[in-house]
Amino acid sequence: KKRIVIKVGSGVITEANHIAKERMLNLVSLIAEFKKTHEVILVTSGAVSAGYTALQLDRKRDISKKVLASVGQPILMSNYKRMFDIFDISISQILLTEEDFDSRVHTVIFQQIIETTLANGILPIVNENDISTTEDQLFGDNDQLSSHITHYTNSDLLVLLSDIDGYYDDNPSKNPKAKIIKDVHSIDPDKLTEEHTPNNKFATGGIVTKLKAAQYLMNRNRQMFLCSGYDLTTIHQFVLEGVHEKGSLFS
Ligand code: ADP
Repeated sequence: KKRIVIKVGSGVITEANHIAKERMLNLVSLIAEFKKTHEVILVTSGAVSAGYTALQLDRKRDISKKVLASVGQPILMSNYKRMFDIFDISISQILLTEEDFDSRVHTVIFQQIIETTLANGILPIVNENDISTTEDQLFGDNDQLSSHITHYTNSDLLVLLSDIDGYYDDNPSKNPKAKIIKDVHSIDPDKLTEEHTPNNKFATGGIVTKLKAAQYLMNRNRQMFLCSGYDLTTIHQFVLEGVHEKGSLFS
């Protein structure tokens, strides 16, 4: 079986202070379909915004953000649990930090957990553990976390499901004439040092962390596909039919 990592952004999972249940269910049923032919690892954002549905603290304050994440993580996971139950898929929750990739001992433990989880047909759902850690122990965004997971689990592909349908030659939220770049084989180093440009208040990365994730994988001969998390026909076509019509492939 091919192994893929799917990362979903918080803009897809939540909407105006509530969990976007219909979109989440669409994603869950897509993963149920993928699982028949693929091993899937899901990386999900959205804990902080899910927490905000229960408790409106100022997310710019460090401690408030951690509290929101701690409130939101079980909200997020109970929604996934309920939806994956429909398809008889068991899930696991794996919370990681950047440190899980920086020592052989930690990385081997994480690899063994993932291998054992997948070997038992369980869907691992991964998020960054931003509850108990300090800033420098974290990636700070799930794009780079996912790229590391993709590499260390020897996965064939990382798919980023975003609020944007691909990588544009200019910021599409500022420049309406920006055009999508379908195939990317190299990234201008200047692009990797630009300021982060997340599109909504719960997003952390913007395009820069996605480019960093892509560069990390391209350096290691792996692929990343960036496409819409709202319209799942693109990922469906690309992964199951091998058709690349929409979305951006970094390879
Ligand atoms: P996610 O929740 O998927 O992580 P982000 O909001 O963090 O989403 O990042 C995607 C956003 O990055 C887009 O909605 C867009 O506003 C912004 N962006 C800036 N430059 C670009 C670009 N060149 N191509 C695509 N998106 C860009």
